[in-house]
Amino acid sequence: MNIENWNLDMPVAGLGPYDPQNIFARILRGELPCNRIYEDDYALAFHDIHPRAPVHVLIIPKLPYVSLADFTAQASPEQIGGFFKAVGAVAKQLNLEAPGYRILANMGAHGHQEVPHFHVHLFGGRPLGPMLVEF
Ligand code: 5GP
Repeated sequence: MNIENWNLDMPVAGLGPYDPQNIFARILRGELPCNRIYEDDYALAFHDIHPRAPVHVLIIPKLPYVSLADFTAQASPEQIGGFFKAVGAVAKQLNLEAPGYRILANMGAHGHQEVPHFHVHLFGGRPLGPMLVEF
């Protein structure tokens, strides 16, 4: 399946080995554009192409990890710390500390993860309501 007809409403079926052709890998390599708002040695942050809130930013580590488990098992403490510092820096840069915001990371099929490169969503810009729809 190529990128053009990849249905991004479908979660990934399972978290296998890292796919170097995933969309975020291609953004990191500069093969696809992104609306970048922050970058350092550890992380890249850019606006989500399909925003679900007035502010919807994605923060991704610069190295290839599929999931949080993969990231925390394989990355160095410096990489892990650097990544989460970047998440905080992005929230601050967007002036979201005072009004508040939400971060979220989807993993695997039950988490409805669409892109198999570990990432954190940052939502803000309005009251976000309860964490999940009741089940
Ligand atoms: P996930 O469900 O994997 O946590 O979320 C992946 C997110 O990536 C979705 O919110 C989707 O809108 C976003 N996304 C998918 N493709 C692109 C893209 O090419 N550019 C940007 N900026 N966001 C994308």
